Amino acid sequence: MNKEWHEAHPMPPNATLDQRVSWHIEHAKACACRSIPDSVLRELERRGIAAPSRGKV
Ligand SMILES: [Zn+2]
Repeated sequence: MNKEWHEAHPMPPNATLDQRVSWHIEHAKACACRSIPDSVLRELERRGIAAPSRGKV
């Protein structure tokens, strides 16, 4: 887990879907401690954004 990244990027309380999408995109680049939830994956798909790969392929 990328502790430094998490300390610098706390998930906002009551984050909007938009904030969660942004957070997970950045998170997936920096750290793989958790996978992207389906709700965020669906939003990425809706926006035509390729989902970042989950952890090690
Ligand atoms: Zn993480």
